[in-house]
Formats: sequence, structure tokens, C-alpha cells
Amino acid sequence: MGFGLAVVALLCSLVFLAGAVLYRAQDDDTASAAAEGATEEVAAEAPPTTRADGRLAPPPVAAATDDPFTFFTTEADGDPVAWDPCDPIEYVVNSARAPEGAMGILDQAVAKIEEATGLVFVDEGATDEMAPVGDEVRPDSDPGRYGEGWSPVLISWTDAMADPELDGAAGLALPSFRVAASEEEVYVTGYVEMAGDYAADLIAAGRSADVLGVMMHELGHLVGLGHVTPSDQVMTDDPNSTPSEWGDGDRAGLALVGTGECEPDL
Ligand SMILES: [Zn+2]
Repeated sequence: MGFGLAVVALLCSLVFLAGAVLYRAQDDDTASAAAEGATEEVAAEAPPTTRADGRLAPPPVAAATDDPFTFFTTEADGDPVAWDPCDPIEYVVNSARAPEGAMGILDQAVAKIEEATGLVFVDEGATDEMAPVGDEVRPDSDPGRYGEGWSPVLISWTDAMADPELDGAAGLALPSFRVAASEEEVYVTGYVEMAGDYAADLIAAGRSADVLGVMMHELGHLVGLGHVTPSDQVMTDDPNSTPSEWGDGDRAGLALVGTGECEPDL
């Protein structure tokens, strides 16, 4: 079998937008909030059905464009590391520090990344798992918590008190890949952290669209895109710009990472 070692890609964070006021929670009630989150009902979602080509959704089509895109991780031959489009991307959510309205924004962002990639995300409900901190590495499998197979993607509404990595950042993302029998590198899990206190400020200021833009940006990393310079692309590295509609370069890149190989052995 061609199972390689798990390799994590570089952490990627988006810094705060300029001009926003940072809210600091007065007491650290992470544990109790996480416990509450763990008791939330798991939304029942019909399993996705497989098409004749093995994919779960039609392959994406993007118009030709000169707008740029980059990949989060590339293989030696320059191809992007991508997810298997024949498997759903299962995710769990730690809403310990999720502001009012955050979950609706997450749903919108997931719908937008599905539409642009042709990848299918499946909501596996709430978790009390915390994102890794410092030198911690999130296990790609965690049978005690999630059963056999790869851990679902962890989407965590948290803050810089829980993870100093978020100090000055609106969010961060880190997909994790394995080497399939085909020798292709394939993403199998990962995590996204969103600064819940920062998102709360933006939502309170009527700037929910900026939170959506940050969430789309982080999901863009999760599925395999890196940064570009132009501020009209969601994947921009300009911290003062958070578009909440994909640019043409975003769409071209998302279409490519959405058409990875199917890897039945993973
Ligand atoms: Zn980024």
C-alpha cells in the first residue's frame, strides 16, 4: 500500500482587518462553552449520492481568466494537492466562541465553496475538540472521538486566549494530506480556526459580509488555494480586503483543486 506519512502544510492565517476593535472576553469559559456545544443536536443530513463518474457533484467549470491563483501545496510535478472529489469532506464544528449569526455565515461559506469546487461538504455536527495549540499536532485519525477513518475537518470558533496563533489574525486554516496508492498527495482532513471575538465585533458593526469573506478565504486554503496579491480576490493577502464573492482567479483555482483524482484506497 502507498500510505505515506502524514504531512501538514504551512499554517496560513489572515491578519485582522484594519480599523476593527478587538473584543476580549472577560472570563475564560471555554470548557463550559465547549461542553454546551457538545450537547447540541447533530443535524441529520442525507448522505450524498455518487454519480456515474464517481464524483459526488458535477465537476466545476470556470471561465478562462488572467486573474491569478496559487496553490496551498503542490506536488513535485507542480500539480496541486487536492481533496478526493469522490468522498465527502466531513466536518465538525466547535462553536465555543461562535458569535450570534456565526453558524449561518458558515453555512453560506460552505455553500459557496461547494459551488465553486464541486466538492461536497457534510456537516457531522458539534464537537468539543479544541484546535491544536503551539507544537500540538491534530491527529489525522482519532478513533476514540470520531471512530475509524480520518478525523473530520474541525471548524473551530475560538480566540487568541485559547490559541495564541490567532493573536492578530481573523482566521487560519491547515489542510493535511496523505500519499495515496497512486502516489498522488491527497488532503484527508484539516482544520479551520475563526477568531470568534473578532467576528462578533464585525457582526455587531453590521459587517457580517466581512466575516463571510474571512470564512471563504479560510475554506479556500482548506481545499488547497494559497494567497494572491490582487485585493479583489477572496484569496488576497491584503488584510484590508475581504471580498465575499469569488473573483475570477479564485474560481479558476477552486475549479482545479475541485478536480483532483478519486483515490479509493484513502
Ligand atoms: Zn490566508
